Amino acid sequence: MLRWSPGADERWQDYAVEAGADTTVLDALVEIQRGQDPGLAFRYACRVGMCGSCGVVVNGRERWACRTPLSTLGPGRITVRPLYHFPVLRDLVVDMAPFTARMRAVGAAFTPGDGERRDARISGDSAERQEIDEAIECIGCGLCVSACTIVAHNARFPGPAALNRAFTLQRDSRDAARSTRWGVLLSDDALARCHGQANCTEVCPMGLAPTRSIIRLRQMATAQLFKWPRYGPHAPEP
Ligand code: SF4
Repeated sequence: MLRWSPGADERWQDYAVEAGADTTVLDALVEIQRGQDPGLAFRYACRVGMCGSCGVVVNGRERWACRTPLSTLGPGRITVRPLYHFPVLRDLVVDMAPFTARMRAVGAAFTPGDGERRDARISGDSAERQEIDEAIECIGCGLCVSACTIVAHNARFPGPAALNRAFTLQRDSRDAARSTRWGVLLSDDALARCHGQANCTEVCPMGLAPTRSIIRLRQMATAQLFKWPRYGPHAPEP
């Protein structure tokens, strides 16, 4: 387990834990904290894979601790460290403020038009609603951002979660900030920076595909550029 606290050096510390068939990484962390090391810091809330707050890197891969049975990790030593690309507050607890800052940078809040009724309805079977059906299930756990290598090298890159969110808004005909948001998305450090490695999609515990959202945004942007209705925001899915 990677341990760190303000003023101390980073260090790996070993703990032995009795594991049953259903023991999860989170169960092990709680047992260590209660029985071996009360100073160990980690974050969790729901314990049932709903809130996403127990995100850590286990054996080099981003996972929710509550949804990762030790039995699925194979024999031998298991490594647990905090999410990458977030400032560490202590041990496995990271500061999620950069996540919110990235969301804010792409204008992740729905913006109703002037005089637009806030509760304007989009029918559930409309093309625009159907297409964002998956993407709106993001719960902001940050695992995709931790897995994204571009985020590591470019602090101005919004990252997969923010671009996924931007897609759900650019596809929403009620949102009045789309042209402003295109300005951000078409800037040097946004859509153009994704290398399509799909690490984000691979680790998303909600089964979302931020990579697909980025590709769709690129298609919509290109269509805007060339006025290609086929790929435009109102186009049926290719
Ligand atoms: S896209 Fe998935 S991994 Fe990324 S923040 Fe949302 S739920 Fe978490």
